[in-house]
Order: sequence, then structure tokens, then C-alpha cells
Amino acid sequence: PHVLTERGIFRYEQVTYPMEERGLQFGDGVYEVVRLYSGAYVWLQEHLDRLYRSAAAIRLSVPFAPEELSERLEQLRRMNDVREDAILYLQVTRGSFPRSHTFPTENRPNLYAYIQPMARKTDEIAHGVHATLTKDVRWEYCYIKSLNLLPNVLAKQEAAERGAFEAILHRDGIVTEGSSSNIFLVKDETVYTHPATERILNGIVRTRVKQFCGELGIPFIEEAFSVHDLARADELFLTSTTSAITPIVQVDDITIGDGRPGAVTKSLQAAYQKATQPAASN
Ligand code: PMP
Repeated sequence: PHVLTERGIFRYEQVTYPMEERGLQFGDGVYEVVRLYSGAYVWLQEHLDRLYRSAAAIRLSVPFAPEELSERLEQLRRMNDVREDAILYLQVTRGSFPRSHTFPTENRPNLYAYIQPMARKTDEIAHGVHATLTKDVRWEYCYIKSLNLLPNVLAKQEAAERGAFEAILHRDGIVTEGSSSNIFLVKDETVYTHPATERILNGIVRTRVKQFCGELGIPFIEEAFSVHDLARADELFLTSTTSAITPIVQVDDITIGDGRPGAVTKSLQAAYQKATQPAASN
């Protein structure tokens, strides 16, 4: 496989990182994960827009201009001859310099991007998953897709050890988002989710769900809900680039609705399917 770096495209084995990489030592960088279905990027432009926004928020410059970056990612896709379902991982860091908290005086950011196969999570999407509640202990700037993922890693690990697929994070009882997803509650055919404040990552799929709700005439309310609301929810689902729209049928010992994916979730899944179809036939 090939890897895109700030210096061009190289073979996977040729790309190594120095010890004093600020991404490693400080988590000083940002990243994106983009879906590919049948070898075609899904909503690439939206992901790149968010990458530049995340970078600007931490005063980091992305090595390529937006148009050039998308051209190079297209080149990377062709060179890897991707035809299956996959994901692109892309990160930009402030570079490699002798260790010091303050920014280096020279502007020499590092970038790498590679594509790896990843099948659709068919079972989870069809039947739903279990989730567990965990305290949201993250910093206040969760709208930045930064490399600092330790709280997310610990939350997801805790979920996995409890046999759950995702950790639902709450701050003082208010559900913010998942450890790597956005969370939505359905009550009386209305969809509720945490507003896109600094406390959550505004997901690319989240934005699409908002659009689908508009198109389907489903009320979409950006209003946070609490952990107590879960017991009264008709449906619950999560969204992310890797998991699309996945029903949540159980949260710890609370069964959501009748324990099966609900009608609103299914209609949104159908809209997602339709929206990502053209990409698949490219
Ligand atoms: N929140 C967090 C914390 C995430 O890591 C992710 C996954 N990137 C999301 C939400 C969902 O975002 P997206 O739909 O852009 O994948």
C-alpha cells in the first residue's frame, strides 16, 4: 500500500516517524477518518473542510491547500487501486522538533494519510448494539478533532470490557456524545441530539441525519437530553463515519423501546443508504 505524506506519496514501508514528533509527545495535531464504499470516498469535501477548521482552531497549518489535498487523496486512492469498503485515515501534526511545549519557530507540519480496508458493520447496523454510560471527562474543546484521544480510548475500552459496542458519555447527567460517535434519542417520532457546541464533535454523519430528517419531515431538535431520558426513549441510535447509523437497543440494564431497531431509525438508515449509493456505483 501507499501512503501520502507532506513530501508526496511513498510505499508504506518507507514511511517512518522520528522520536521527537509532536503528535506523539504532545498529541499536537488533528485528524480525519473518511469512509469509502466500493472504492469511492463518501463526503470527502465535508471531512476536509472539518480538517482545516480543526487545524485552524489549534493554529496549525495543513501542508497542502484544500484543492491540492483532495487531488492527492484521489491519486492515493487510485494508486492503492481501492475497490472495496475502506477508510482513509489522515493526520496532520505540528511536526518533529526538539521537545518543547511552545510552538516551534519554523512552520514544518507533518501529514500522513493511508487507506485500509474496512467492511460495513452489517450485523450491528441491522440488529443494533449495546452501549454503556460513562462520565465525560474530556476537555472543553471537543469540537476539534484532535489527536488527544486518551479519554475516548479509556471509555471505549471500558465499554468493550462490559460487552458493549459504545460508551455513551455524559457530563453531569447530560448526554454529550459517544466515545467515537454522536448519539440521538427518538421520542414521539422526534429526534433529539446534543447541539453542536464546543462540547461535542459535529459529526459528518450527524449533519446528514439532520438533513435526512428535514427531507423526511421528522422533527430534529438540537437539545441535550439526560441519562434519565434514556429509560423513556422510544429509540436510540449512534452515527459515525465507520458505523454509519447504528441502532442502540440496550444501555447498561435499560432496554430501549422493544429492544429492536425502531421505525424512525430504519427510515434514516434507508435515507443514508440512498445517499451513499451513488458513491458506491462510481
Ligand atoms: N464524536 C466523536 C468523539 C468521534 O470520534 C466521532 C467519529 N469521528 C464522531 C463524533 C462522529 O463523527 P463523524 O460522523 O464525522 O464520523
